[in-house]
Amino acid sequence: MNSDFPSRRKSRQVLIRHRDNIVRIGGDAPIVVQSMTNTDTADIDTTVRQVCTLADTGSELVRVTVNTPAAAKAVPHIRERLDQAGCMVPLVGDFHYNGHKLLADEPACAEALSKLRINPGNVGQGEKRDNHFAQLVDMALRFGKPVRIGVNWGSLDQQVLARLLDTNQQRPMPLPLPRVMQEALVASALESAQAAETLGLSAERIVLSCKVSEVQELIAVYRALAQRGDYALHLGLTEAGIGSKGIVASAAALAVLLQEGIGDTIRVSITPEPDVARAEEVRVAQEILQTMGLRAFTPMVTSCPGCGRTTSTFFQQLAARIQHYLREAMPVWRVQYPGVEHMRVAVMGCVVNGPGESKMANIGISLPGTDETPAAPVYVDGEKVATLRGERIAERFQAMIEDYVRQHYGNAGSEAKNEAKEFPR
Ligand code: SF4
Repeated sequence: MNSDFPSRRKSRQVLIRHRDNIVRIGGDAPIVVQSMTNTDTADIDTTVRQVCTLADTGSELVRVTVNTPAAAKAVPHIRERLDQAGCMVPLVGDFHYNGHKLLADEPACAEALSKLRINPGNVGQGEKRDNHFAQLVDMALRFGKPVRIGVNWGSLDQQVLARLLDTNQQRPMPLPLPRVMQEALVASALESAQAAETLGLSAERIVLSCKVSEVQELIAVYRALAQRGDYALHLGLTEAGIGSKGIVASAAALAVLLQEGIGDTIRVSITPEPDVARAEEVRVAQEILQTMGLRAFTPMVTSCPGCGRTTSTFFQQLAARIQHYLREAMPVWRVQYPGVEHMRVAVMGCVVNGPGESKMANIGISLPGTDETPAAPVYVDGEKVATLRGERIAERFQAMIEDYVRQHYGNAGSEAKNEAKEFPR
């Protein structure tokens, strides 16, 4: 319903390739969702499994840490196994401290990766810093790989910070420390990008990020970064936390920036709860983009919170069941029924808002609340088409959704597909 989509900041476009799979970051490309494994990269089997799961969930790039010689040796094998499994997601290598050496010793690792992430705060000190940075950029040039210059305030380049603190002390009115830190983050990213360009890497091969773990700090840093250059930007609230805190903090920070048109690719850095899969971070990233109307990935379920008018948990169970069913179906539907990701399904708890909300969805059900006749009207494209009763309401509603998808998307539904809402960028 909302047509006031944010217009995107103009950034350079960076192409991340693996064979025929080309992921575009920046320019007029859709905002890319990415994620990172938490397996030991040297453990090839486990890493391949997790990369596949992240990619199947919708991660368009997957980053792996490359921290040891064993990890660097494993990367080409991981790539090969992914290719054999038909998983063409581009892999990004995350390097700290010893990346220059690992890549020099294992050039096949550089070749297998589609992008290198360099943290300029973790490449060494003094002259070594510049040499190591130059060696990493040289490997990127040699193998034709783009680079993310990823600054993080937990590992901020101490030389840049010391220099800016000195300058600050000489001001008649020194800025507070947090402001100097913000400036140091931005300066570290921009100066490193300029250094990479001087070494021969074009701006179309550079993505920048400046991650911090506080929402307001992140917003301030990215606003500054966006104002002062046109490099493609990777957004993410680092170390966002666990559970709902991590999700809410990430959504709060990213939504403000995305609404201002800032950000070309996102990662949600939540700590997974012990019983929650790593792929949760991909779903959260997708849901941030989809609920903002910036991209569509999976049909969305609109459901009310329930209240004193709902006396049983049936309606909550139905909403959860339908959301789960839609997510599980998507890997197949994405291929068979293009456009289905725009579908909206409503599961509502009573007559107060149930019929109204259901009519606004592609397909919706309004369950009976307390003292209502035990009947659940179903609406399709705004019209009441059936009333479900009895024990098998959930199964029958799910079957109606399946029919709707078959009739409206893919070849059978080319007309409907053409009418699917296209989100501007
Ligand atoms: S739709 Fe009905 S059950 Fe749901 S929150 Fe509103 S009044 Fe309560």
